[in-house]
Amino acid sequence: MEKLVNLKINNIPVTVPEGSTILKAAHDSGIKIPTLCYLRDVNEIGACRICVVEVKGARSLVAACVYPVSEGMEVFTNTPKVRNSRRLTLELILSNHRMACLTCPRSKHCELLALADEFGIEAVRYAGDDMQPRIENTSLHLIRDNSKCVLCRRCVTTCRNIQEVGVIGPNDRGFDTHISCAFDRDLCEVDCISCGQCINSCPTGALAEQDDTDKVWAALNDPKKHVVVGTAPAVRAALGESFGMPIGTNVEGQMVTALRRLGFDKVFDVDHAADLTIMEEGTEFLHRLQGEGSLPMITSCSPGWIRYCEQHYGDQLDHLSTCKSPQQMFGSMVKTYYAQKCGIDPKDIVVVTIMPCVAKKYEVQRQEQRLPNGCMPVDISITTRELARMITSAGLLFDYLPKGRFDELLGISTGAAVIFGATGGVMEAALRTVAATLLGDENAPLEFKDVRGTEKGMDSIRVAEYELPGRTVKVCVASGISNAKKIMDDIRAGTCEYDFIEIMACPGGCINGGGQPLHTSYEQDYIDIRGLRAGALYNQDESMSLRKSHHNPMVKKLYEEFLGEPCGHKSHELLHTHYIPRKKHIL
Ligand code: SF4
Ligand code: SF4
Ligand code: SF4
Repeated sequence: MEKLVNLKINNIPVTVPEGSTILKAAHDSGIKIPTLCYLRDVNEIGACRICVVEVKGARSLVAACVYPVSEGMEVFTNTPKVRNSRRLTLELILSNHRMACLTCPRSKHCELLALADEFGIEAVRYAGDDMQPRIENTSLHLIRDNSKCVLCRRCVTTCRNIQEVGVIGPNDRGFDTHISCAFDRDLCEVDCISCGQCINSCPTGALAEQDDTDKVWAALNDPKKHVVVGTAPAVRAALGESFGMPIGTNVEGQMVTALRRLGFDKVFDVDHAADLTIMEEGTEFLHRLQGEGSLPMITSCSPGWIRYCEQHYGDQLDHLSTCKSPQQMFGSMVKTYYAQKCGIDPKDIVVVTIMPCVAKKYEVQRQEQRLPNGCMPVDISITTRELARMITSAGLLFDYLPKGRFDELLGISTGAAVIFGATGGVMEAALRTVAATLLGDENAPLEFKDVRGTEKGMDSIRVAEYELPGRTVKVCVASGISNAKKIMDDIRAGTCEYDFIEIMACPGGCINGGGQPLHTSYEQDYIDIRGLRAGALYNQDESMSLRKSHHNPMVKKLYEEFLGEPCGHKSHELLHTHYIPRKKHIL
């Protein structure tokens, strides 16, 4: 039985489980203690001293985020001594901070700015260094500005402990301490996989995505260009958060209207290409089950995951599905089928995608994805956050926008495609079509809840077995690189029993991508953001009449009119790719 501890917080009796920290005990009793470096289960290092409290009998203030409760303890969270200490700490941090809030991408969600406001700091009493921008801008996905870094190390522990990539850390000592890669190498020179999870962890504007919105505005304002946009499944489940809507609100209709009003010539749904991916990937899997190719087959939708696999498991690349990701399939269809159908030179088309992901910025420039007509499938990939900024700067009042519908040609999709945005979604979508192919639609199950993160835990590795004619198929779903590593080590050791594996780089899948709307540590700690966003997608799936990719009438038409058959010659030319072992950077 769980042992309980009795203590008093601000003279109120409280009973909490043994081992709780003061921070948790206070939260569970309805008291919020401010934090800055703390991120639950990720960064619990008691470094910033913003969360200090008084404990009766203790010689000095203690950091509530790491200090355990004990029987009879008396804690005070709001005394003059506590408030003065927190304020002093904050002023010292601010004295060494380049305060450029007016132009900072983080200003609406900055935890440092919120603390300064909370403490009523209008002027800083201490003069620090004359802070100049200290910008590292070498990668395609991320910008670091160490003049806005508070050295909380949330990015470091996220990269090292959550993703187990570990390419950033503190360099130098004392006043010169700064976060960067080992030996101050550029981010583009190390094994960063572009997942952007460090951006989501950062409390300030020290980390941000590369902003490509100017390129999109330039294309929209170029009368010679035909500008087509496509949105990924997970974007609709999160975009509303940027406009104050509750987490988990599905804003597909308003998003479509906003994109049209921004001036895009066509507004398509990348979900359509997700259905196409299932047709190709499902067929590829059936071929592999018949002995044509390596098993297990692993999904290839997540560019962060692909980059990690190429860097660390270059000897196992035959397990990756050769399918391009839905983003790249979408661009490939726009620059070939759509261009041909509309009589537009593909070189005059600009394809923009809206993604929950910053690694997609890296994926669009992968040369292996170039089409036979010489075009790259996608020209510009922007994140959910960048789209929100474009909508705001265009003066569109998002909450008031009527609901629009995607343009038809590449805009019709099924529920199977919608759930791509959540961990387990690609696997479930593929199983719906694979089972229907082998058992017939009437006998095949529609839902495969065993693989859903919403049912089994977002961070879990889910495994399931399904009886299909002639054999049992074993599947596995994992998200986050630390989980992926375990599976890949089994494959390398020859001990992996699975036939089909879904891997996504970001924990929880695309709904938690590095380009999604940001939340404070408090929200990240206490709200099931991933579950709510995933729930929005599963609800949409349930409400749809078409829920299997092979039922998508526009995908059927695409094969009839243009592609021929799944995994046929033309598909291979346009929709499949190859992978390259990339040298692991040795430091
Ligand atoms: S990080 Fe926060 S405090 Fe610093 S410039 Fe940006 S918004 Fe302002
Ligand atoms: S983008 Fe991902 S891999 Fe790169 S530094 Fe950030 S957390 Fe680490
Ligand atoms: S970059 Fe952001 S998350 Fe990393 S240490 Fe600096 S402030 Fe913290």
